[in-house]
Amino acid sequence: MDQAILKIGILGGGQLGRMLLQAAANYVIETFVLENDSNCPAAHLCNHFIKGDIKDFSTVYNFGKDLDALTIEIEAVNVEALEKLESEGVKIYPKPAAIKIIKNKINQKEFYRQHQIPSPDFIVTENINELKAHTTFLPAVHKIGQGGYDGKGVQVLRNEDAINKGFDAPSVLEKMVDIQKEIAVIVGMNDKGETAVYPATEMIFDPELNLLDYQISPADLPENVLNKANDIALQVVKSFNSPGLFAIEMFVDKNNNVLVNETAPRVHNSGHHTIEANFCSQYDMLWRIMLNYPLGNTAAILPSAIVNVLGDDGYSGNAKYEGLNEVLKMENAFMHLYGKTQTKPGRKMGHVTVMSENKNELIEKVKTIKQSLKVIA
Ligand code: ADP
Repeated sequence: MDQAILKIGILGGGQLGRMLLQAAANYVIETFVLENDSNCPAAHLCNHFIKGDIKDFSTVYNFGKDLDALTIEIEAVNVEALEKLESEGVKIYPKPAAIKIIKNKINQKEFYRQHQIPSPDFIVTENINELKAHTTFLPAVHKIGQGGYDGKGVQVLRNEDAINKGFDAPSVLEKMVDIQKEIAVIVGMNDKGETAVYPATEMIFDPELNLLDYQISPADLPENVLNKANDIALQVVKSFNSPGLFAIEMFVDKNNNVLVNETAPRVHNSGHHTIEANFCSQYDMLWRIMLNYPLGNTAAILPSAIVNVLGDDGYSGNAKYEGLNEVLKMENAFMHLYGKTQTKPGRKMGHVTVMSENKNELIEKVKTIKQSLKVIA
């Protein structure tokens, strides 16, 4: 049977786009990437790189108008252009309507409330004066509606004294959760509404630095809690009613309640390990969805951990890596460097996935990786 080569575009050219393209090479697809930085991680792995602003209406529209399908690797895109493309028959994964809700934390939280999806209680505040009227709601977390990322745009307000740290812009004030664990569940849904759910990933934070230390999958939680997380993640994706790949980030509180924190409507950093540690990776899953092939097997082959490779403090400039040999000589350790030529303190330059049957051994390996690897200039 003759099969036309599908033209599929990705908005954004970071590491998620790069790993998506690595999986695309296994299929018959002509790939297009739109991104402002012509040296971005995805630029050299696609068939066609187009330099341009993913937030600009006509740039996104012109990029997409001759394509069969489009996906995103970041939410900060021009949704109006995607809506127009969708109305003209371009398939968008996920639907622009879902991206629109997710892009604004106020809309996102209201969506969870409307669909009875368990999520921390909240109030909307339009400005700092309105916030000051809600001191009885503290302790709480103030989150700016639009424009926050990686923890910027989030302020913990423990008591009244902290209220001036809040945002003078439309935001949500969310009840502070007594967090036991933070987890993420990735779900793929195809055009027919069939779903595939990955085992939960657990984020482990460094208690001193209050930064993500590493991630481990499957998450170490009682089966009934994992089942609850699985059901809630499915409820979220079914409520968005959109094909695509989604990561649902959740809190498990001290009473084992599961609450949705936020959803990413795209491939996600909590699913990097699925490349080696699960039968079908999150990237392969998204191509199966966009190409209308059967969904893949999400089961874990072995328990795994993801360690981010970050630029070391005190070094900026041309990146040099130390310790690659030490890491790669470990059993079942896999290196992913994102092709960023320039390092700076804390910049995400890559990740290592390590697998082991034994959880203690996995944690030991994580420590060894963190001690061995250095990104300097
Ligand atoms: P971002 O979208 O910038 O990653 P999040 O909304 O995920 O921001 O919040 C960042 C972190 O702040 C979370 O990972 C969690 O540790 C903490 N946090 C967010 N909301 C709450 C909450 N309601 N209660 C307690 N901690 C929270």
